[in-house]
Amino acid sequence: MPTKTAPQRRPVIGGNWKMNTTLKPAEALALAVGRAAMQPPLHKAVEVVVFPPFVYLAHVALTLCHANSDLAVGAQDCWPEPPGAFTGEISVAQIKDVGGRCVLTGHSERRHVIGEDDALVCRKTRAALAGGLSCILCVGETLAQREAGETDAVNERQVRAGLEGVAAADMKRVVIAYEPVWAIGTGRNASPDDAQAAHQRIRAVVADMFTPDIAAALRIQYGGSVKPDNAASLFAMPDIDGALVGGASLKAEDFLAICNAAASAAAQR
Ligand code: PEP
Repeated sequence: MPTKTAPQRRPVIGGNWKMNTTLKPAEALALAVGRAAMQPPLHKAVEVVVFPPFVYLAHVALTLCHANSDLAVGAQDCWPEPPGAFTGEISVAQIKDVGGRCVLTGHSERRHVIGEDDALVCRKTRAALAGGLSCILCVGETLAQREAGETDAVNERQVRAGLEGVAAADMKRVVIAYEPVWAIGTGRNASPDDAQAAHQRIRAVVADMFTPDIAAALRIQYGGSVKPDNAASLFAMPDIDGALVGGASLKAEDFLAICNAAASAAAQR
């Protein structure tokens, strides 16, 4: 059964800028989104978070602070150890120190391009939460896995492994992003019905791992070529609580259209 009667879940929209932008465009993009996030229909209705590249994270956070925007800024990755001898890596404490509030873990590009496994994804998730940040844990199947009928099994494995050892009390700071790998950056996306089915199954896995109440309160985003013209049909689904957006998050107008679609969907629930 779809969890339509679940407690009202505030939609959450993430803008993953990946390895894009330079300093000034990053500042302009953050300001455009940050100002809109403070106005109706977004303010309080939709949680918006942007993930700039590490080198711009502090600058973006400071720029938003000076503009009196409470738009959240997050990191695209973290290293799960305390500060120390890890050349090239960034700790959770450093992310927090410069104003980061959230960390993405398990993004498909880190799993499939960089080679991170479930165990490392879990260490990062736990480190982000232990450091007081929130976390968006990304899961999703490849095209070969989908064609082999393994979508639910892959999602279940990644959810169980990614959340292993996470305390129930910390689940309030966890969001799951279901991102089919074949839909990321390709212009193809899961149909709203297929995405809904995957989200419903993921919620059931979380209910089994934790409690039905924790699962009902958990926000599950869809990610994979979300654009202004397909956002509303995805957000109309009862278990889709927002989106993690890559390409379309680089243009303020497109990203804000997606955020506004989430606000409309929430108002109709
Ligand atoms: C992503 O980076 O998480 C993503 C979903 O990218 P895109 O929207 O470009 O497919």
